[in-house]
Amino acid sequence: MKTTLMAALLLMSANSFADFSQTNLGQDNGTEDKAFNQRNQERLHTGTSEIILTFDDGPTPGVTEKVLDTLKEYGAKATFFVIAEKAKAAPALMQRILDEGHIVGNHSLTHKALNDGNITFLNWKKLVRTEVLGAHEILGPYMANGQHFYYRAPEGAWDSKFADLLNKDSIGQQYIGPILWDIGGELRMNANGAFVEAADWACWSKKITVDDCLSGYLYEARAKKGGVVLMHDLRHQSAEMLAKFIPALQKNGFSFKTLDDVDWAARKK
Ligand SMILES: [Zn+2]
Repeated sequence: MKTTLMAALLLMSANSFADFSQTNLGQDNGTEDKAFNQRNQERLHTGTSEIILTFDDGPTPGVTEKVLDTLKEYGAKATFFVIAEKAKAAPALMQRILDEGHIVGNHSLTHKALNDGNITFLNWKKLVRTEVLGAHEILGPYMANGQHFYYRAPEGAWDSKFADLLNKDSIGQQYIGPILWDIGGELRMNANGAFVEAADWACWSKKITVDDCLSGYLYEARAKKGGVVLMHDLRHQSAEMLAKFIPALQKNGFSFKTLDDVDWAARKK
């Protein structure tokens, strides 16, 4: 009798405990497998010989199509961190990104950096909500391919108070981010004049050739043994570089993954 009663009680409490623990995890210590993080998320897949391709600041008619053509040719899936206002202006291109199996991420409404020094005490909450949640209103329908909603902060500008604010919102708490990058963040040469790191936007503004820029990306990918690659579908040179980058990565033994392949729950523990 006593055993039966205990078992019944245990069964009942198992249910309530499961509910309680799930709520508790999300609210108290950030071990939920989603919700905005206090800091940018980086070193997602380094050391694994796996590459996660990400393209920021598009969609750009005339450039994004070329990026998509190359991805299709090699069967690689990428994440497009788009600017919502640009997405709104190019619905057919957004539909193509979705139809071809890529993930769409939120890269803000207008690409305003959230920490640019102009945020006053009075309006930062409004700005964060507009740039992140306002962007989601446009991008939500295009985010169907991903297992989570992903966010990347313009210029990586972030503050823990932004995470606290957004995690109180029912949409915000379904996001993972901000997602930083491991490869493609800056342009750097070694003492011999070889590019050991490269960033596409910096390459093109400094009139560096596609091949030289590519050598920096490849060097960094090999040095870090993989990770999240940052490129921009803004200029034709980036699309040209991608057409050489993917086969070069394959030749170097890299395979392609997406943000959905990251074990988010494990990372937060
Ligand atoms: Zn950007």
